[in-house]
Amino acid sequence: MEKIKIIAVDDEVIILSIVKMLLDSNEFDVTTCTSGKECLELMDNNEYDLALLDVIMPEMNGHELCKKILKKNRDMIIIFLTGATGDDILQKSFDVGGFDYIEKPVHKLELIARITNAMRVKRAELQLKRTLEMLEEKNAILNKLIVIDSLTQLFNHKHIVDILSKRFDEARRYNQPLSVIMFDIDYFKQINDTYGHLFGDEVLMRIAQIFKNNLRKVDFSGRYGGEEFLIILPNTFIESAAYVADFLRTKISQIRFNDKPEFSLTISGGIASMEGKKDFIELISHADKLLYQAKEHGRNRIEFM
Ligand code: GH3
Ligand code: MG
Ligand code: MG
Repeated sequence: MEKIKIIAVDDEVIILSIVKMLLDSNEFDVTTCTSGKECLELMDNNEYDLALLDVIMPEMNGHELCKKILKKNRDMIIIFLTGATGDDILQKSFDVGGFDYIEKPVHKLELIARITNAMRVKRAELQLKRTLEMLEEKNAILNKLIVIDSLTQLFNHKHIVDILSKRFDEARRYNQPLSVIMFDIDYFKQINDTYGHLFGDEVLMRIAQIFKNNLRKVDFSGRYGGEEFLIILPNTFIESAAYVADFLRTKISQIRFNDKPEFSLTISGGIASMEGKKDFIELISHADKLLYQAKEHGRNRIEFM
């Protein structure tokens, strides 16, 4: 077990030597000093677990020193050692962030018990804090896994549909426009068959990147199915959505891979706006129907009505 590093501050040297003597064991490593100023300087270059502070000292009293120490290190344990008694001093000692309070003359057993106890509580507190931080981190990862598609890092099917459902209701309530684009890669099966499934995955990632780099912060893109993408454009009329869709279609047709100069791909899209739709499901199916038409009309195109 590592020694508990203690710094004791008292303007009376005799008290410091008593403390040092009482704590003279393998368990403690005691540094002493006679003023708050000296204590703060020592703390700049050394790490301590616990500070034993006299309350009444010239220049900087123990309470002021305690506040300064805690400002430097929130986790420092402060125990006041004082001859001055009274409710006021006791109350103030806790108000400034002290952990405990011992009256002089100090008894060995009491001093050691209180220090050991304070360390136990502090260690448990730190452990708990660390566990909570770890749980928060894990939780953030889990929350991300629930909504993100692991291949493309776009929202997954469930989440993009959830978003659409909310945005649809919101747009209706505030009487704002809303459009969606449903995209589907052309002849993707053939791409897989020719270049392999792993390359197909790379294509999906590159397309996702284009959505991420070119959409507004307020738009949403999700992987609706294997090679289908749903884009939600809040506050957007169908004409602007058509412009965005065609821009994305063009960008995607420009995707190139260094090791496959002959390769290119295209995508088709259907656009629908919420006007006249009773719910978001109807909106999706309308976009889907138009996507199907885009395929029928020769692919590499956007259809909207
Ligand atoms: P169309 O132009 O009519 O859309 O033809 P298509 O070949 O793109 O459509 P089809 O529905 O016949 O094929 C879709 C293919 O997408 C089949 C499936 O294996 C592939 N696919 C779905 N998900 C993934 C994936 O995660 N990775 C890869 N590499 N391929 C996928
Ligand atoms: Mg498809
Ligand atoms: Mg397809």
